[in-house]
Amino acid sequence: MASTVSSRPIPALYTVYILRSTMRHASLYIGSTPDPPRRLKQHNGAIKGGAARTARESLRPWEIVSLVSGFPGPVAALKFEWALTNPHLSLHIPTESRLSVAHQKKKNGHPRRPPASMQSILANLHLLLRVPSFARWPLRLHVFVPEVYAAWNKWTSQSAATATATADGVRETVEVLTDFQPSASAIAGAGAADEPGPAWGIHALPLDYSPMRDYVDKAQDIFTFEREGDCTVCHTALPPGQGLYAVCHNTLCEAAGHLRCWSDHLLECEAATKHGSDHSHKSLQDAPLVPKRGDCPACGGPVVWGDMMKELTLRMRAPSEVEKLIKAKRRQEKAADKAAAEAEKAAHFAVVAESRMSTGHDAESPKAAKKTKTAAKTAAKTTRTKRTVNEVDTPKKSSAKPTKITKTTRVTKATSPTLTKAAKPAKARAKTKAATSIVGEASAVLIDRPKTPEVIVL
Ligand SMILES: [Zn+2]
Ligand SMILES: [Zn+2]
Repeated sequence: MASTVSSRPIPALYTVYILRSTMRHASLYIGSTPDPPRRLKQHNGAIKGGAARTARESLRPWEIVSLVSGFPGPVAALKFEWALTNPHLSLHIPTESRLSVAHQKKKNGHPRRPPASMQSILANLHLLLRVPSFARWPLRLHVFVPEVYAAWNKWTSQSAATATATADGVRETVEVLTDFQPSASAIAGAGAADEPGPAWGIHALPLDYSPMRDYVDKAQDIFTFEREGDCTVCHTALPPGQGLYAVCHNTLCEAAGHLRCWSDHLLECEAATKHGSDHSHKSLQDAPLVPKRGDCPACGGPVVWGDMMKELTLRMRAPSEVEKLIKAKRRQEKAADKAAAEAEKAAHFAVVAESRMSTGHDAESPKAAKKTKTAAKTAAKTTRTKRTVNEVDTPKKSSAKPTKITKTTRVTKATSPTLTKAAKPAKARAKTKAATSIVGEASAVLIDRPKTPEVIVL
């Protein structure tokens, strides 16, 4: 991977995008950027720096209809961009699978680039996403326009229908996410008419590392307080500060391990899923060298190699970025503290009123739950070994939570702002007051309970 020789962390976001003229849909442009909203402004002439090909006023405004995210760096994105722009030349696409074949030649004898249509770009995208040089990267395809998504699906099903053994690989190697413009009625229902609608498309993409805040904070905590323990894979001790250790990204799990061990383990997971339970040495040897995903041996939750590498490179190469993230997190927690207290108070009264009406649920009353919370907090604070008990108490909650649910989170925010607001600060509040992040997480689970008594009943 190009990023391993670089001294920079893996970027929070790097994309290759497809730009379309809203005035003339046949005018298309492919580019790469770490900041799609800013790049779009450049293409539309709102700020300096747009490409010459998009400078014609009659074609403006442009829109980004789709993009691929997850590139480990600008070089990787440029390679992909170039291959997508020049499918007739790219060495990434074997000659026999090329869909765009150059029929004309330029004056200098070089093949002329065939005109790109949305259909041909999507077809080439489909091919590129599964050629070996790109298939191992944690790429995601985002589609922001329904008709482009329909075209993509049409191409996918067509190629599946004429499937050879390799033609159906794209689903495995790329995650497809859609985020279309909300309908006018949905916006009208969400709030006052003068309020801006919920962000969608490129404006809803996280441009920085903020979705990784909790993960980065947890890892920082583990290594600062030298809690590496033993490698979760090979079970030998991890001496502090003596190697590259990666950490599980599931919320309550502190499993750390040698980079090589994690890699071997994840490759083994992949080989096992591909070949059933029979994963012989032969299949492991045939397997690629860069893993993609698998299960954490400690918590059983899903882990994604690309996310682990992002955290690791951030920790090793950008301590100031890590510090910034954690500071921002603490600030947010502090600000949320007050709101949480109020929300909890309101919820408390609501629950009291409710439990007066129902019968026989004494144990679930807010008073009892609060007692449990205080007891758990004290227990967690006294010893570190006790913490493990808390962890064991709530394994389901942790393993069921993969860190990346950006889309879902955004949707929740848009549809039920009060719910999200109430849940988050409570967790945050617990964190600031607790000694370590894990103590915080553990008590957060308990604090959540009095607000949602029905969870305990179930
Ligand atoms: Zn190991
Ligand atoms: Zn884990």
